[in-house]
Order: sequence, then structure tokens, then C-alpha cells
Amino acid sequence: MASEHVRSQVQQRMRELIQAIAEHSRRYYELDEPVISDAEYDVLVGELQALERDYPALAEADSPTSKVGGQPSTALGAVVFERPVLSLINAHSRVEAEEFWRRVELESSGPLTVVAELKIDGLSIVANYRRGILWRAATRGNGLVGENVTANVLMIDAVPTRLSRPVDVEVRGEVYLSRSRFEQLNRDRIEQNLAPFANPRNAAAGSLRQLDPEVTKSRQPSAFFYEIRAGMEEIREHHAALEQMAGWGLPVENHWKLCRSVDALAEYVEKWHERRDSLDFDTDGLVFKVDQMALQQRLGATQKAPRWAVAYKFLPQEALTVVRAIRLTVGRTGALTPTAELDPVRLAGTQVQRASLHNADIVQELDVRVGDSVYVRKAGEIIPEVVRVEVRLRPSDTEPFRYPDRCPVCGGTVLRLEGEKAYRCVAGMGCPAQRREALLHFGSRAAMDIEGLGERTVDLLLDQQLVGTVADLYRLDREQLQSLPRFGELSAQNLLRAIEGSKTRPLSRLVHGLGIRLVGEKVATVLAAHFKQLDALMRASREELEAIEEIGPGIAQAVTVFFGQSSSVAVIDDLRELGLNFTETPRQEVGSVFSGEVVVLTGTLARLTRTEAEAVVVKQGGRVASSVSSQTTLLVAGERAGSKLTKARQLGIRIIDEEEFLQRAGGTSKGQAVPGETGAETAMKGERGS
Ligand code: NAD
Repeated sequence: MASEHVRSQVQQRMRELIQAIAEHSRRYYELDEPVISDAEYDVLVGELQALERDYPALAEADSPTSKVGGQPSTALGAVVFERPVLSLINAHSRVEAEEFWRRVELESSGPLTVVAELKIDGLSIVANYRRGILWRAATRGNGLVGENVTANVLMIDAVPTRLSRPVDVEVRGEVYLSRSRFEQLNRDRIEQNLAPFANPRNAAAGSLRQLDPEVTKSRQPSAFFYEIRAGMEEIREHHAALEQMAGWGLPVENHWKLCRSVDALAEYVEKWHERRDSLDFDTDGLVFKVDQMALQQRLGATQKAPRWAVAYKFLPQEALTVVRAIRLTVGRTGALTPTAELDPVRLAGTQVQRASLHNADIVQELDVRVGDSVYVRKAGEIIPEVVRVEVRLRPSDTEPFRYPDRCPVCGGTVLRLEGEKAYRCVAGMGCPAQRREALLHFGSRAAMDIEGLGERTVDLLLDQQLVGTVADLYRLDREQLQSLPRFGELSAQNLLRAIEGSKTRPLSRLVHGLGIRLVGEKVATVLAAHFKQLDALMRASREELEAIEEIGPGIAQAVTVFFGQSSSVAVIDDLRELGLNFTETPRQEVGSVFSGEVVVLTGTLARLTRTEAEAVVVKQGGRVASSVSSQTTLLVAGERAGSKLTKARQLGIRIIDEEEFLQRAGGTSKGQAVPGETGAETAMKGERGS
């Protein structure tokens, strides 16, 4: 018997834990804004579970250890589940996973089979199909009542609105954001001065729990399904359910495996520890499920989780190391981005030497100092980030990091404008770092698409002082290029041809290429469509700009400031003289190939972004629709096309692939289809063959 003193201490600790867990759950499930890592959260829950096990009499009836999820938002409609939507029991080591095997094996009458699956780190959904048509979808909520997100789920391309069979079923799955989409979204958000998402899981949850389905649509989440909850009682094995769902056209993650021994389970764990980073989505673990449904039923469930499954959680992808320096890199818009240089450390299978510190606010918030020991984490991004400082290990002689007054590259003035997260070097094109980035951006695929103008070439051109501004690119000649190291006759000729070819790009490309702050691909398209001529855009007042629906005060200010600078005007005058196209309609008129057509685009296109492909259709007289219906006349199917392709087939709609689409649009090769309207997707992926 514990003494009264011990009991009261335990009770107090339990209350503290319950409070802390409740607050973190609220942030995680309801606000989609956790402030601690999952591993840290799991430690709190683990401590509470241990105390409840050792002092069962003190356990509170409504402890978070027996609850699922968080409170559903009342802003979205409620869905009351007929059967509770449960969570999973956790295992944190291979030993615990093996214990699961032995525990369920005891109950099994014959040889045991377990299905091992990847645990997708997203947001749980339950979808209902009636006669094969999606009619309702809900988040898990608190497991008893979920949030009605039907309108939002209908916006997710990966979720079919119609199954290939007219079945009445309830299925469960996970909505997630692919890593590539997550990175793209964050790049866009940073460009628009919005706070980036912390990780793909939060981004997915935030994207689905929206009042406006258009927001869900624009974020482009994906989904995988992993359970038939009701409607297929004749299926006797879990793996058969997975196959059945895939057969109906539902996306099912296909790396699952049937394990017939505990060794096979261990092998699966081993394999995915290594490989999980190669996937384009985040996994926070693996799930092991008893294959035989009869055994599942015998094992039953607790209030919180089934006894026939276990989530094997991966170790946190965090490592402790020392900051040796904080380096500032100067970006295209002069923003000084801090990066921590680290003592090399192994993290999730790779050697890490640098970690992002994002911006000045984060440096200040974390109070990272040179000499500090810090935890670094991979959070879906390629470059890891510093999560927190281990203050107990801080040497006595460290000093808070201060931003310099002068640019580390050109010595120009560094300022932090009001309301901005970044410190900026204000030297503009006078700063070599900004010149370099400006040239790279100008030539990138999403902007002027100058093949061969990669990092190496730009560095050579700058080193030899052959270019200063983007206009100088159009003054280069063959002799100059051939004199550059590693530049032969052919590469010189190709680059000149690419530069010349870029002169006819439509205005939207040029406006994007000019590198005006806050003006990315989308905004540039809006501006070009509105003003049609560069001169009209240059003359536009802030009020005129703000009157355009998609343009806010920040962008309006950035645009007027840019065109108000004499250096910008001088470059634009040069470009005009050099013969660049300043109008929205590309010079090479394109026909009206899609006139009268209602076109739906689906799957991943390799050479065009969605926006570009849509622009191609519109410019050729067609109309773009987001879903397949009897009105649709043409479906353009990219890779991994799913439900829309199936539906188009069912309706007998004409289907073409990307290649044929480009050919029809006016040419067989990239750039010919619609001059300068191709390939933006890969623009940010670095150097292109120079
Ligand atoms: P969970 O995420 O540990 O596991 C259950 C969930 O896994 C299911 O609801 C389902 O959505 C998902 N899942 C993904 N792939 C699956 C598959 N193939 N088969 C079955 N399920 C699959 O449990 P939970 O209750 O959703 O959340 C608890 C976890 O959330 C904690 O362990 C913690 O990691 C995290 N959390 C973190 C914080 C924080 O502040 N960082 C707060 C609350 C919860």
C-alpha cells in the first residue's frame, strides 16, 4: 500500500499530465497546431498510462488514455457514427510488436497471419458509399461524433466519387499531403508572406477541416483507404478487404505485406525503417493487423482501440548535435535566411550537417546560439530543421544571435521592414547574391524557361562579368559564350537559341520572371490577364491594383514599389529595345483546337503544371471542368489517374494522354504547344543541364 503522501503526489502528477495532454490534444486535433513533437506527446501519455497501471484506484474515469481524438468542430456539421471509430494501441519497440504477435497468437485457433501496413501520417476519415456513389465523409472527431467534411472530400482527386461496383459500404482511410505537394505549398506560402505549415500532417488536417471546399481543393491533398468498416461482411480476411477496395477504384497503399511469422514482421520493420524516407508521403509508423476477421472479432476492442491491431511507432526522427555557426544566405529578394551549421550527425538514415532556422522570429524564439546543443528533426522537408535547444548543455560563453547591419555578401544595408519576418539586404541588383538568384529565377521553367541557364552557367556568366541584369542575357553572343570554360560550340548555340526563344513568352511569364516580391506564378498570371500590356501594369496605381479581386494591399504595394524604381525601369526599357514580348497574347497565335470542348484534367502531368494545362485549353477555345460528367467531352489523363479516368471510361468519354494533348495543342515538342507555357512544375528542382 502506498503511503498517503505518495498517493497525493501521484494524484497531483496525474492531474498535471491529464491537463497537459488535454491541452496538447486540443492543439493537435482541434487547432491543427501542435507545439510539441509526437514523441514528446507520447512520453506524457506513456507516463500517465504507467501511473494508471500502478495506481488503478487513482485513475480518473475520463482519462485521455481511454479517449479518442479531440472535440469535433461545431462549425462543420456533425456525423454520429454507428460504430465508434477507434484509435490504435501503440508499440514503441520491436519487442513490443513481437509481444503483440504472441498475444494474438494465443487466441488464434490455427496458424496466425498478420497484415503489415504503412501507417500514413495524416487525418483519419470515414467515407460512405451508397450504390457505389460517395454520399458522406467525416473526420474521426472524438470517435463517436465526427465532422462532416463531405464537400471537402469531394474535392480530393484521389477519392473516387463513384466506385466501379454499386456497393453500399463504409470505408476508412487517411487523408494526407504528399511531401512534394507540401513543399510546393510551403514555397507558395512563403512567397505570399504566409507562415509555412509545420509538417504534412498538420497541413493535411488543416486542409480538410475547412469551411470552404475550394481551400481543400487548392491544397490538393491525397488519400489512402485501409479498412472496410461495414457493408462487406462476406469478406473474411483483412488483406482481401484491401484488395477489394483497390478493385473498386479506391486508392490503397500497396506496400502491405502478409506476415506468417514473427520474423516476417521483424523483417518488415527493418525494411521500412530504412525505406520510409524514399516515399512521397510521411509515415509515422507501421500498423500490424490480424488478417482473419473471425479472430479480430474474438479479440474485440477496448474503449479506445481494437485488440487485433497495433501501431508500431517509428523512433522520432530527431537527433542532438552542436551548432558550429549560423550562416546567412541572401535570396532573390534580399531576404537573409539563417541556417545552422552543425557537427555532422546521423538522422533518419542520412548524415546531417545543416539545419534550417527559417527566419528571424524562429531564431529568436528558439534562442539558438553558436555553441548550443540542439535537437534537429526531419519534418517532411529535405533540409532538417532545428526544433529546440537543450539549454542544460549550453556553454557559459554563448551569446544570443544578432542579425548583422550589413549584408554578408555585398556589405549593403540590412533592414527589417515592419510586419516582415525577414531581414533584407536592400542593395537589390547591386548585391551579387541577389543578382545571381534573379538571373536563375528569370530563366527558370516557371518564368522565362531558358533551357541551359542553370546555376553553373549563371555563375560563369557572373564571374566573367558577361551579365549584370537579366537584359544582358539577350546581348550575349556566340564568341563570348564559347570563351567560357567547358562551353563548346554546341552548348553556346543551344543557350543562345533558348535565350532568343524566350523573347516570345507571354507577359505573365515575364512579369513572374522579373522577380517582383510577392508576385509568384499565379499572381503574375492574374496581373497579365488584367492589364494585357506591361506598360499598363507599370502605370497602375495601388488603388487600381487592389481593385483586382485576387490582389491584396501587400502585393499592390510590392508591385508599385518595383515599377517605381529607376533600376527596374531601366531593365524594362532594355528588354523592350531587345525585342521581348510585352503583351499577354503570345505572338505565335494558337488556333482553337479545343473550341467547344469541355475538358477535364486528371492525374499527374509530367510536362505541364495544372494551371498551365488549363491555360492551354482556355487559350485554345475550350472550357475546363473539375469533374467528369455527361457534359465532359475530353479527359486528359496524366500518370496515376484514378477515379476520373474510371468514370470517363464508364461514360465513354474520349481520353488522351499528355503527349497527345500537347500535340493537339499545336506541336509535338515542349515549347511548341503554346510558346513558353510548359514545365513549371520542375522549376524549383535546381540546375538544368547547362
Ligand atoms: P495514432 O495516430 O497513433 O494511430 C491511429 C491512427 O492511425 C488512426 O486513427 C488512423 O488515422 C491512422 N492510420 C494511418 N495509417 C493507418 C493504417 N494503415 N491502418 C490503420 N490506421 C492508420 O492515434 P491517434 O489517436 O490518431 O493519435 C495519437 C497520436 O497523435 C499520438 O500518439 C501522437 O503521436 C499524436 N498526437 C500528437 C500531439 C502533439 O501535440 N504533438 C497531440 C495529440 C496527439
